Parts: sequence; C-alpha cells; structure tokens
Amino acid sequence: MIYKLEHPVAGEIGTTKYQCTITWRNGKLIADEPPASGGQDEGPDPYTLLLTSVVSCTLITLRMYIDRKGWDIAAISVQANLFRNNKDDKPVTFIDRDIKFLSPVTAEQREKLTDIAKSCPVSKILQGEIVVRTFAYNDSETEKQIKYGNDEITVLWKPDFCRHSGRCVTQLPGVFNTQAHPWIRMQGASSAEIIAQVGKCPTGALSIQRKPS
Ligand code: SF4
Repeated sequence: MIYKLEHPVAGEIGTTKYQCTITWRNGKLIADEPPASGGQDEGPDPYTLLLTSVVSCTLITLRMYIDRKGWDIAAISVQANLFRNNKDDKPVTFIDRDIKFLSPVTAEQREKLTDIAKSCPVSKILQGEIVVRTFAYNDSETEKQIKYGNDEITVLWKPDFCRHSGRCVTQLPGVFNTQAHPWIRMQGASSAEIIAQVGKCPTGALSIQRKPS
C-alpha cells in the first residue's frame, strides 16, 4: 500500500466556530462553514472542497490532454454542484459537472473531451469503491518506548501509540515486520529510507534520533 500523497492533508480546529486550518504539501488554507451553519465563511466548506477537487481535476486532466493533442483550445471552465436523492430506495449523491469550452471546439473534440473528463482521476475515485478508515489517537498516552539503532540513527517506537495501522509494515517490509523478532530490523533499508517511512507513521508511535557523526 502506497499513499497517493507523500504529505497527508492535515487539519486542526480550536474553539473558533468553525475554522479549520488545513495543512497541505505547500502551505495552509482555512476551511469553514457559512453563517447559516454557524461559521464565518472564512474559507470553503467541506462540500465545496470536495467539489473543488472534481473541478480542478477535470480542468487539469483536460488541459493535459488538449496540450498533448496540440489542439488550440485556450480556455475551459467547469462548474460542479451536488445533490442527494433516493435511487432504488437508497440515498445516492449526484454530482453534476458542466464543462464549457471558451474557444471553438468541433463536435468530435467535444465528445472526446467529455469522455476524458469523465475518467479524470478524481472522477474514477468517486465512482469506484471508497472505504474511509478512521483511527483515533489520544495525545496523552504513556511514554514507554523501545529503541532500535544502526550507526547513524535510532528509531524510537512507543507501543502505546501504535495503532497497528500497518502502514510501516506494508510500505517498508524489509524493516518493519511484525512476524519477526525484533520487529524493526534496521539493516533492512538505508537510514534515509527508514527516516522517510518513520515520517509517515500517523500516530507518532515512531520517531527518529540521529546519532552524532
Ligand atoms: S505506521 Fe506507526 S502506528 Fe502504524 S503500525 Fe507502524 S508504528 Fe504502528
């Protein structure tokens, strides 16, 4: 299992209704709710962010395809909205996406680009099976830790923080192997690879100490 994003999207909320600070790969943005829902509209709400993903993925995918084809289509606009309805007695979310070509396109190009839009990566995700896995952690768990070292670094593992999500085991099995003893084998990868993997532990169960050179 390899995550799509090297840096996961992370968010925090305090007591200010309902401002969430979202940290992404290259910066931060605010998510909020409109006043009707008790927020201050300082940033997009979660539904808007979901649709932002659809709109931007559609636009980027179309632009890549158009550029690859060398077609002269200068500008495209996309808008999206969603509603919930019942279908066969089950609640279903419908996302409507409108694509407008702001330069002339032939009927053939329009048909092809519509197909390309339908299969943009985010569309595929939303139309495939999605499982949202939720892990919950407590910031005040115990501090017991076990150390594993090589010549350059020490990996600290706090078993009480480990939620056995399996991320380290599946992503760097040469080092992290719950069937082996010890379960962390420092000779299984370079220090750089181990440091990178430790950085992906979602709970803080793993951390690194560098040894003085
Ligand atoms: S990634 Fe972290 S929480 Fe998940 S199994 Fe490894 S050490 Fe435990």
